[in-house]
Amino acid sequence: MRYLFDPTPVVSVPVVGQAARFPVHRIYCVGRNYEEHAKEMGFTGREPPFFFLKPTDSLVVVNADETGTMPYPSLTKNFHHEIELVVAIGKGGKNISAADALNHIYGYAVGLDMTRRDLQGEMKKQGRPWCIGKGFDHSAPIGPITPVAQTGDVENADIYVQVNGQDRQRSNTSQLIWNIAETIEHLSAAWELQPGDLIYTGTPEGVGAVVAGDTLVGAVAGLGELKVKVV
Ligand code: MN
Repeated sequence: MRYLFDPTPVVSVPVVGQAARFPVHRIYCVGRNYEEHAKEMGFTGREPPFFFLKPTDSLVVVNADETGTMPYPSLTKNFHHEIELVVAIGKGGKNISAADALNHIYGYAVGLDMTRRDLQGEMKKQGRPWCIGKGFDHSAPIGPITPVAQTGDVENADIYVQVNGQDRQRSNTSQLIWNIAETIEHLSAAWELQPGDLIYTGTPEGVGAVVAGDTLVGAVAGLGELKVKVV
């Protein structure tokens, strides 16, 4: 096969305990999936889950025990952190039932759904797509993927992010409005999931701004820490 120019390289994430890496297909994200975060964004009540995507090459892949770097993005004056549990799909499918959903998961990781909140807010107000607020370059830091067999109970795990050593978000994944299985059921009704898909499952309350020079340390219990510096 000859190409006009070099094809985009495969984006991949390291896997805890083995040399083979997880090649990424798509990045799906769930909106407003913790009640207290929905409230802080001005919404109440349980609504069906909704989704948006980030480009696969927006990942900032950070190895264990390393500090990744993320450039402060253009156009924004309100660059927000959203700490999230990330599901890594190992077996694809469509119309996956919640009862069968966990069989499709390869593992879990800690991720940050970084957001240009001012631009997202403007798009919401105008009824326009969120891409510019959510899907920009370097908007999706992620740590290594831990295979399912090696994780603790990810459905009842403390989740937090600190900025420069101070707590910003702290909750528990048991507070998810739509749990992991239900999320996969809804998502796979809309798209056929593929091995290599990542699902950012939503963020708890306490989202806020970071600036250049800040260091973020996020974690989900049992999945290690994700460290990223804004440069
Ligand atoms: Mn999010």
